[in-house]
Amino acid sequence: MGRSTRSTTIRAVTVRRIHPTAFRIAHRGTSREINRQIALNLIRSRQPISRAELARLMGVRRGVVSRLVEELLATGLVVEGDKGESARGRKPMHLHIETRHRCVAAVDVSATRTSVMIADMLGHPLLDIAELPTRRRPADLVADVVGALTRLLESNPDAGRCAGIGVAVSGLVDASGRLRLSPTLGWREVDLRQPLEAALHVPVVVENSTKACVLGQVWATRGEAPADGPVAFVNVSDGVGVGLAVDGKLLRGAHNAAGELGHVPLNLYGPRCSCGQRGCWEAYVSKRAVVARYRGTDPSWPASEDTGAVTIEQILERARAGESRALEALRETGFFLSRGLGTIVKAVDPVRIYVGGEITAAWDILLPTLRDGLLEDEVVREAGEPEILPVPLAEHPRLRGAAALICTPAFAAPVVS
Ligand SMILES: [Zn+2]
Repeated sequence: MGRSTRSTTIRAVTVRRIHPTAFRIAHRGTSREINRQIALNLIRSRQPISRAELARLMGVRRGVVSRLVEELLATGLVVEGDKGESARGRKPMHLHIETRHRCVAAVDVSATRTSVMIADMLGHPLLDIAELPTRRRPADLVADVVGALTRLLESNPDAGRCAGIGVAVSGLVDASGRLRLSPTLGWREVDLRQPLEAALHVPVVVENSTKACVLGQVWATRGEAPADGPVAFVNVSDGVGVGLAVDGKLLRGAHNAAGELGHVPLNLYGPRCSCGQRGCWEAYVSKRAVVARYRGTDPSWPASEDTGAVTIEQILERARAGESRALEALRETGFFLSRGLGTIVKAVDPVRIYVGGEITAAWDILLPTLRDGLLEDEVVREAGEPEILPVPLAEHPRLRGAAALICTPAFAAPVVS
């Protein structure tokens, strides 16, 4: 295949997250690497943290922690400084993840727009997001992205060296990062990784955008507590994508196609979907479906492409203004959303489901019908309702996911089997 070894090390993001609280310390006979990764993840989730606190959390002697810390300092992933709070004049040294001198680039390629973000090694944005129109020819898109990244990095030398580029793209991406098929982009068999690597001389990881999204959420260092067990990310937009992760590791399946639950039919005689089948979940909850529901027009593909110039944003606005037709369309969509979420519960019994996309702006409107729909389902009732969290568009879940493709492998659990 002629892959370079440098990028091979991080291309396949089969990482598993180390839980910052529920971990077991490896003792004699197990790998010291595991302890080092546990220390690294504790620093990541608890920073700034002192060596003493780290030893206490890990339940090991100071000497053991000091050896692990020395190794981590040598990798450059961790730094020690006096950023911690100074208690009564004494300034203890604290450990942090090194976020200076190094950055990652995140690229989100969607049907009309490509966004580029420079983030630190924890995935936090460092600069304003740059947006470009998505050009129809992959080579033109690559040239645009190379130009945008070069400009951003050259005009912001403080961002540091770029450690890699994560690319999130709609469609089926194989394990090598090759885009096999993207109906939304109209692309088939496209390699974005190789030309980007050749132009920018850094490792590039290309992944399906919803898979990237779930990775971005599980590894996020902000907000809610990390979820142990299966987690799903559902992106409801032009299409419906689902990304699944178990203990921080993406569920890929044999051909990286696991999780294509947007194309599980809810009704074999339902509206024609963009994939050619009838009655897919996507045909009931995508933006086109919501617009057709609101207008009372045919939700089938391709008839639903004619939206009569009504946008989902307008429907959301009209619902906010109290228009009953808009409210009803969104409430009904909440119910159909629950049907697909029920499928996810039956497939992987997740502890948490993140939902992204335009409709999250109407979360309060559709949540009651969504929950009623879920609880109508006996299997879901018995399994227990998962936690369902909306992820607003303003949080840029796809860009965060693209950044996670590069940031997270360093923190992953070592493979010990
Ligand atoms: Zn379909």
